Amino acid sequence: MKNNPYKRLFEPVKIGPVVTKNRFYQVPHCCGMGHQRPQAHAAMRALKAKGGWGVVSTEETEIHPSSDLSPYVEQRIWDKRDVPALHLMTDAVHEHGALAAIELAHNGNHAANLYSRLPVISPVSQSIDLVYPKQTTQMSKKDIVEFRKWHKRAALNAKAAGFDIVYVYAGHGMTLTQEFLLPEINTRTDEYGGSIENRVRLTRELIEETKDAIGDTCAVAFRFAVDELKGSDGMQFFEEGRAVVEILSELPDLWDVNVSDWANDSLTSRFEPNEGYQIPYVEFVKGITTKPVVGVGRLTSPDLMVSLIERGALDLIGAARPSIADPYLPNKIKSGNVDKIKECIGCNICVSSDNFAVPIRCTQNPTMGEEWRRGWDPETIKHKKTDQKALVVGSGPSGLECSMQLSRRGYDVILAEATNMLGGRVVFESSLKGLSAWKRVADNRIYEIQQKQNIEVYKESELTLAHINELGIDNIFLATGSSWRKDGIGRSRRKAIKGIDFLNVLTPEEAIKDIESLQGPIVVYDDEQGYLAGVVADHLSAAHSEVTFITPASMVSPWTESTLEQKRIQKSLLVAGVNIICNKTVDRVEGKTLKLQCIFTGETTSIQCSTIVMITERIPNTKLYDELQAQEGSLKDGKAKHIQLIGDAKSPGLIADAVFLGHLAAQSFEESEQEIQKAIFMREMPSLK
Ligand code: ADP
Ligand code: SF4
Repeated sequence: MKNNPYKRLFEPVKIGPVVTKNRFYQVPHCCGMGHQRPQAHAAMRALKAKGGWGVVSTEETEIHPSSDLSPYVEQRIWDKRDVPALHLMTDAVHEHGALAAIELAHNGNHAANLYSRLPVISPVSQSIDLVYPKQTTQMSKKDIVEFRKWHKRAALNAKAAGFDIVYVYAGHGMTLTQEFLLPEINTRTDEYGGSIENRVRLTRELIEETKDAIGDTCAVAFRFAVDELKGSDGMQFFEEGRAVVEILSELPDLWDVNVSDWANDSLTSRFEPNEGYQIPYVEFVKGITTKPVVGVGRLTSPDLMVSLIERGALDLIGAARPSIADPYLPNKIKSGNVDKIKECIGCNICVSSDNFAVPIRCTQNPTMGEEWRRGWDPETIKHKKTDQKALVVGSGPSGLECSMQLSRRGYDVILAEATNMLGGRVVFESSLKGLSAWKRVADNRIYEIQQKQNIEVYKESELTLAHINELGIDNIFLATGSSWRKDGIGRSRRKAIKGIDFLNVLTPEEAIKDIESLQGPIVVYDDEQGYLAGVVADHLSAAHSEVTFITPASMVSPWTESTLEQKRIQKSLLVAGVNIICNKTVDRVEGKTLKLQCIFTGETTSIQCSTIVMITERIPNTKLYDELQAQEGSLKDGKAKHIQLIGDAKSPGLIADAVFLGHLAAQSFEESEQEIQKAIFMREMPSLK
């Protein structure tokens, strides 16, 4: 450690009455486990502590049934019956020498109370902050007193659950406390509204009362969004954001500062490629308070971390996504293994899982969310059972992950790739506008594979059945990917588009390869409704003025609402002058005319088109698998081979899905069927009390 250039990151920091062993701080982040999956939650947080994080936090924790975020699965501390489940986490985190933090939250107008059916409360009566025809009730002074009591009771229960740091939370455009701070929402005329001092009153009371209740042994943190990134229409860090910090400066034991709303805080790399992008907004805080300050911004590089500490921008390196992509990040920096860090690619698949109310997943780290259920750990994997050899065909994310993990298990592996580049779809997708960080999925794995003695990699080696027979390896993993279909069959129509052959129909890969020579007018037809068509249209629009985006969906790339990107994507296309046509399918083609059909009325309209880029559905590439299976079936005797389809060849999906299936295959290799199935049945059952 003495000669470690990053030793400053391992200095202890005093936070009120507690001390963190280092500056690595896993800030609160959602994970889709919360109150419904306490064992899974505890195991996931414990792994971060094992990986070296000095502080490990929960996600937002509802303090009362009037802050009921159902159907989303967050943490709960409605009453003392929640204490044992939360204690699982604090015990597990403490075991590894880390501090445990809890983010107490009342979600005000952001909760719909769909489960509790209580009225939604906020500073004034207004529409709730969700698409649901419901309004809030204005909190009376008595309601404010009640709310403060709930917060205090939750703080006491948090202490009983073993937490070391307890949050007051005013951020992400999601909390009642923040609603009181914002003049746009808080138009009250009593002592809780009007001047900034009045709007801060409730926050001050909460921090003071939390300190009174538990401050003897627990630190009280204040998580605060200093800027809403709405310009003069919202809170700005150099005006009222700063005023809030000045008013409360020494009151909390810790300032956890960021920008709001969630889509601005958890910006994807597609729209914000820079690490540390929040620093310009939050670095003023340290000039106002002597209390420690934690900030975020997809911080992964230890050089940047050290420079932030040394120039006095932050005291603690906050991370949500970098801690998800690599829970062992601090330990790797400590042990001089910086090159082994699995870097977050900023894709927000982790965020999407919370938005779908399922346990967290990560593109880079396929073990995330599987710590309890499957007992997975990103750094350790069980040793091989026998001295078998394995052949992996295809080096996309699935083939790379499968090869890497089989090699970690100790098997000898041959990885064959048809092209001269390793990475499969990652090579293509990371070449698109804004997605260059995605290349890390391939790069991080290729780097590790290159260090291994037991993997042989063959590029420009398109394997056939004859080649495989010649190699004579009995364990074959086919990660042969998939290709985009051109006939128009997709989510909205199960029949090929009539007359499509009149046009130049291209897959996304073909369109980007020939981008300079494409004949306009160009149509990007998106009946997948994921992310790719939006990126392709954005990319093409930089080279061509006549791009039209057609989709049966009611907006561009609707799935990307789950990654918090949809608005930015649609804006990007509009700014680039892309003609967007929603709610229409391509019904048929007549010459160079597309006949579009309204999905509601069936009414037909026309649009001219020379080139159509078809993004509707993919065909799994199973040819080699099918041939192997057929051959296997025709053999009478002999030992059965292990022939397994993985990744997009098995089930086309996200890059995260391909990585996961590659990992699962490597983990399951030579396991009994019973063992493989076990994880599926490992569930947290409700108590029948
Ligand atoms: P996944 O997402 O499942 O990893 P990709 O489409 O990214 O799938 O990658 C599949 C890779 O497999 C591509 O790089 C492709 O060139 C390669 N491939 C497909 N068929 C063969 C084959 N017969 N021999 C070697 N490589 C192949
Ligand atoms: Fe980073 Fe993507 Fe993993 Fe989230 S899912 S932690 S954004 S790599």
